[in-house]
Amino acid sequence: GADSISEELVKAIRTIPDYPKKGIIFRDITTLLGDARAFRRAVDALVQPWAGSKIDQVAGIEARGFILGGAVAHQLSAGFVPIRKKGKLPHETVRIAYSLEYGIDEMEMHKDAIKPGDRVILVDDLIATGGTAEAATRLLQRMGAEVIAACFIIDLPDLGGRAKIEALGVPVRTLAA
Ligand code: AMP
Repeated sequence: GADSISEELVKAIRTIPDYPKKGIIFRDITTLLGDARAFRRAVDALVQPWAGSKIDQVAGIEARGFILGGAVAHQLSAGFVPIRKKGKLPHETVRIAYSLEYGIDEMEMHKDAIKPGDRVILVDDLIATGGTAEAATRLLQRMGAEVIAACFIIDLPDLGGRAKIEALGVPVRTLAA
């Protein structure tokens, strides 16, 4: 059942205290990615609600969202759109600013990556405050995407990220906390 999947995924993810700085408990998914069974189960569980439905593009957030998003896109027979930190994409881009703990940053995607009306699923490894995924969702919606869902392996529910995405009219799927 759902709980055993969640337990299996939690066991496969390594927790590193005080990384990258004191007080942060870092969830390291490289151990999950290196566990063939856990990796497959995580991707299968993420896409399960949309198996057999038409998804045009999967958008992945740099950098761990690229790994999961690529696998998700393949599984759904969809395209893949990278959402990157500014200055990394070679062609014309659209850009959005978002706040970090200290200061602001910008993310971007190629202008021609999304066609109006495209059905898009957004993927990242983890949602914490939701600031990153909120900016990515707004960027996709600005380009005319219908964002069908935002999917994450891990939710840190105390940080309230889910509500920020749902406020944009986008359902959130997470597999473990
Ligand atoms: P946020 O914008 O606060 O929801 O942060 C989410 C982004 O930061 C995702 O791309 C995550 O990969 C990364 N992130 C935030 N907190 C953690 C954490 N405790 N462990 C691992 N990654 C994190």
